[in-house]
Amino acid sequence: SKPSCKWQRVLLKVSGEALAGDHTQNIDPKITMAIAREVASVTRLGIEVAIVVGGGNIFRGSSWAGSGGLDRSSADYIGMLATVMNAIFLQATMESIGIPTRVQTAFRMSEVAEPYIRRRAIRHLEKGRVVIFAAGTGNPFFTTDTAAALRCAEINAEVVLKATNVDGVFDDDPRRNPNARLLDSLTYQDVLSRDLSVMDMTAVTLCQENNIPVVVFNVTKSGNISRAILGERVGTLVGG
Ligand code: UDP
Repeated sequence: SKPSCKWQRVLLKVSGEALAGDHTQNIDPKITMAIAREVASVTRLGIEVAIVVGGGNIFRGSSWAGSGGLDRSSADYIGMLATVMNAIFLQATMESIGIPTRVQTAFRMSEVAEPYIRRRAIRHLEKGRVVIFAAGTGNPFFTTDTAAALRCAEINAEVVLKATNVDGVFDDDPRRNPNARLLDSLTYQDVLSRDLSVMDMTAVTLCQENNIPVVVFNVTKSGNISRAILGERVGTLVGG
């Protein structure tokens, strides 16, 4: 039986920064465990959860391109490999508490994870498994936010839930302006024209063209992941 929740199938985007928390290493195991527990609580209700992981806690292509002769494409491939490390860590944490989880990579690494096969990913979700999509879109010059929008559209998920370290989208940078206001909801056009740092423009445009709402919320507040997945008001809603 299907749950009577707002969403039946969601795409959760977890950035590398969110996985790092305030840990001095790249990944904070307390955070992967918190994510796993909250995801477990909603999959038990029958909600299907797919996850796209970032890699910025380990390697961000754009910041390394140019160093040591590294061209942008090679730098981006290293960045995509970083997302695979995060995905495997998160998978291990999820399975340690009994959530069946599959990792699918955008380029083949068959010894490590399944290759991305759309219909197979959907089948996993239908069987109640969590699917973690790794290696972004598989293409340099893109981001994992764009991968989140793309995979969301491909697997017919209803919403992108973007887990960040801030409460949502503000009308100004809250780190510089203490009077910055948290915005409740926004249109895609607001995001694009006011250059609000929600996601990169490619990702926003893809969501807009496919009518995919995006919820930006703070993952460091306990309970927020399950609240976002259950469709409760949390953070900022874009589109929708
Ligand atoms: N990346 C890429 N193509 C993609 C997704 C990611 O080339 O489709 C690379 C890019 O170098 C990026 C890095 O992987 O900097 C890590 O991803 P991202 O910065 O999106 O991670 P996040 O900011 O979510 O931690």
